[in-house]
Amino acid sequence: MNIFRQLTNLFYPDLCLCCGENLYGQEEYICTKCLCDIPKTNLHLQQDNLIEQRFWGKVPVEKATAFFFFGKGSRYQHLLHLLKYKGYCEIGTVLGQYAAAHLLENGTFQNIDVIVPVPLHPKKLRKRGYNQSEYIARGLSKVLNKPYDTAHLYRARENATQTKKSVFERYQNTLGIFDVHQPEDLTGKHILVVDDVLTTGSTLENCLNELLKIPHVRTSIFTLAVT
Ligand SMILES: [Zn+2]
Repeated sequence: MNIFRQLTNLFYPDLCLCCGENLYGQEEYICTKCLCDIPKTNLHLQQDNLIEQRFWGKVPVEKATAFFFFGKGSRYQHLLHLLKYKGYCEIGTVLGQYAAAHLLENGTFQNIDVIVPVPLHPKKLRKRGYNQSEYIARGLSKVLNKPYDTAHLYRARENATQTKKSVFERYQNTLGIFDVHQPEDLTGKHILVVDDVLTTGSTLENCLNELLKIPHVRTSIFTLAVT
């Protein structure tokens, strides 16, 4: 795509961001074929699934799932890259809605009270302009018909880049980086914490640990993708 095409596509997206083919009718950002072809995990249908097992012995989780698997170099990895780094935040909403429609089929997450996206540090938020997880939460919220909340959980300090660190270093690196404003508002709630991609899970683990300090809180996890 040339620059002009990229710019017009940003404001009038008429091509699928995933495969580059034309969009038709009600299609927005991603074509129907690309949505249908998403390598869904369907892990929400399994008790004690692989995602839940990742948190065993670390933090109590009621229900956890990731919507799709993404392969290195796949067009879905490209899509996540556009969502996270290239300003195409609406991809999050579209995929969040699409995922929620699948979750609804068997009533997954119908017992949650509120959806909370993993927050970015304000400095990072300013730099990127948006929090991709918030857009995923918006999509989920619309279809699951549950509110999403960005007012309470926040990132209290910046963490150094995670990429060159071991699992334990990553965990240490994210310890105590989250905090909650007016935690009493969330007392007794079942909170669905949302992130874009599940890698080591240490960020989510720390989010949940912070939320679980609030009396009678229960926590569940949704990520759009898992490596
Ligand atoms: Zn497509």
